[in-house]
Amino acid sequence: MATLAVVCFLMMYWASMMAMPIPRDTLSEGHGFEDPGQHSKDVEAATSGVVSTFVPLDDSEVAKYFQDYGFLPQSLHVETDPESVEVNLTDAILKFQDFFELPPTGVADARVQELIDLPRCGLPDVFSFSVGFFRWYDLNLTYRIVELDDSMPLGRQVIGDVIRDAMQMWMSVTSLILCEVNDPDVDVDIHIRHFQGEHGDGISFDGPGGTLGHAFLPTFGEVHLDAAENWTVDTGDGIDYFQVVVHEIGHALGLMHSGVEGAIMYPFYRFRSDVELHQDDIQGIQLMYGTPDDLQRDVREHRCPYSGPTRSPSGQRQGFEKTKVLLSRIESLTGYFLME
Ligand SMILES: [Zn+2]
Ligand SMILES: [Zn+2]
Repeated sequence: MATLAVVCFLMMYWASMMAMPIPRDTLSEGHGFEDPGQHSKDVEAATSGVVSTFVPLDDSEVAKYFQDYGFLPQSLHVETDPESVEVNLTDAILKFQDFFELPPTGVADARVQELIDLPRCGLPDVFSFSVGFFRWYDLNLTYRIVELDDSMPLGRQVIGDVIRDAMQMWMSVTSLILCEVNDPDVDVDIHIRHFQGEHGDGISFDGPGGTLGHAFLPTFGEVHLDAAENWTVDTGDGIDYFQVVVHEIGHALGLMHSGVEGAIMYPFYRFRSDVELHQDDIQGIQLMYGTPDDLQRDVREHRCPYSGPTRSPSGQRQGFEKTKVLLSRIESLTGYFLME
């Protein structure tokens, strides 16, 4: 999921920094979530025009989740202003239900809770502006794995293979050429990094479960994955690295979240044995990068490995450092630009 100028570009970056999932155990015990039996009652209430206020609206953690993912205004002080939360939370839940095509009950019913309890991408779902036009203007892009974590169960070889396959998945439906470049002296467009906890961009990873990764829209070229996850490949145990990497690369290419269950850009993680792009993903990426071009397909092998301009090895982290500087410059703009 498209936008325009530099300012919007900055907001998207900031928005991506705002995601901070709350501990899953605090959500599953009480905190305003109803039991499943409440669901039909809520639908009835909603369809009769009476929006239930079942959710205890003073629960700042529930509100924090909706705020982190764009359904409550960033300007709201969820921990210190319960009255404002009370006024806004039902509307936030309705927006969440609308985005994910759930019955519009206006309460955090069982189906809402089920989604909130799932591991997910750290990027927000909703922005106050139209998204979809953050794209690279060069169809030939380069990438490199620049940070690995030795504690990860997957070795570098497997990680490299999976990332190549994920890049290939996006290339197969567009005119993009995505080349891996391992030479540290060659600048690349997309950096793939693995971190645990706080890692310098203001949005900490949270250990196993919860947030699995996040990425920054073009042209930042940053894909970050939570190294603390129990990453696996194709087994169904743990978290499937391929599935998450395809999703995060989608962001790095310019896509935002989709509310279509089954789309790779759906933000919630459930293991899928058949990871493939949904028509929703394909339509989104082709809006930006077109359909596969036979000529480009032919020359693809000749364009990888890419031999572009070189720079000093000390500049390897330069792009990432730039994003941090940028963040400090746009902090004051967030309340204005983010949703409402
Ligand atoms: Zn995402
Ligand atoms: Zn990060």
